[in-house]
Amino acid sequence: MTPSDQDPKAPRGRNALGDNTRLVTGGRRPEWTQGVVNPPVFRASTCLFETYADFDAGIADPDSRLFYGRRGTPTHWSLREALTGLEPNGHDSWLFPSGVSAITTALMAYCKPGQRMLLPDNVYEPIRSYAQTAQEHFGVETAFYPPGVGAGIADYLDDRTAVVLVETPGSLTFEVADVPAIAAAAHQVGATVIADNTWATPLYYEALSHGADVSVISCTKYVVGHSDVLMGSVTATARAWPKLKKMAVRLGMTASADDCALALRGLRTLGVRLAQHQASALDVAHWLAEQPEVAEVRHPALASCPGHEVFKRDFTGSTGLFGVVLEGGQESDVAAMIDPMKLFKIGFSWGGYESLVLPARPERVRTAEPWTAAGPVLRLHIGLEDVADLKADLADGLARFRAARDRAA
Ligand SMILES: *Cc1c(COP(=O)(O)O)cnc(C)c1O
Repeated sequence: MTPSDQDPKAPRGRNALGDNTRLVTGGRRPEWTQGVVNPPVFRASTCLFETYADFDAGIADPDSRLFYGRRGTPTHWSLREALTGLEPNGHDSWLFPSGVSAITTALMAYCKPGQRMLLPDNVYEPIRSYAQTAQEHFGVETAFYPPGVGAGIADYLDDRTAVVLVETPGSLTFEVADVPAIAAAAHQVGATVIADNTWATPLYYEALSHGADVSVISCTKYVVGHSDVLMGSVTATARAWPKLKKMAVRLGMTASADDCALALRGLRTLGVRLAQHQASALDVAHWLAEQPEVAEVRHPALASCPGHEVFKRDFTGSTGLFGVVLEGGQESDVAAMIDPMKLFKIGFSWGGYESLVLPARPERVRTAEPWTAAGPVLRLHIGLEDVADLKADLADGLARFRAARDRAA
């Protein structure tokens, strides 16, 4: 009845069906959709048991049926199954109220007091803050490693290391991590490898096939795709799943059925949206690389990006988010560039249909490896607007940047 009931030996969709077919068909079991196309929104806290015997059967196996809203309803099961079907080697998935709660729960699931976790120096910043909490409240130590470490991760591992987190590429500075090399070393000391797979999604990067045990997505970004829902998901291998599930349930992690319905709506078009984000972002990135105000484009598909070789080896596509290092200048010059922009608005998050720009400022957070770049760093999200309009907005912005920079010089 629930997603966990799947026969673990049944071939996953990847072998049989293409990406877009799996996106369209995933999780649409007739017993969940009840004769309509989309699973109904089951708004539920209380679930009713017919009899005392039913109640006891629920207690004995709460995942075999509707039990209590926090454990999910057919709306949740449908989304869980659809997400699991995208990640080869995925056994099951859990849903979270945000991407951050998905990552922190996964970190907590595999780390006990006295153990250590390794985080990449380019990690999503709220997760860097979580390291403080892990130390103060749970006695879990953290070390930060350089994102390009590869097999050199061995120098950071010891027998107390329980978890290695990878974010690939880093979502501000876009270094691509060699996950197979990191995972091979981590597994030798028995550590669990968690991959933040938000940027590529399983469509363009099969995290669990490249050595990760756990794949986390901030569904807030491309899965939802419309900047109107916060949600996270964790998909784990059969071996890693029990600990993740237990911790998520104990912490009371859940998502609302309304949000699940919106995430399912977004998921159905993920393939076509990503294809467009990819094409537009590559077009803009190549164009930016030729602008005199741009020192460096940090887009994993461009040779200038750290880890580009790994990207070519392991990824099957790129998405709409990348970085640009400007040539010289200071923050006030960047303000002159981006304040008047018409299509690129300043904002956190990404993955919606709209373009965004964000001052990245990695020098403020790095600890494992100092950040040295030729100038300020901007993160761009290329939305679904027409590329010509986006380039015009950027060209005007770069002209303002150059004028302000050269005036100050
Ligand atoms: C946005 C983001 C998160 C956090 O997701 P929320 O849903 O905003 O909590 C985690 N990792 C990466 C790479 C992100 O971009």
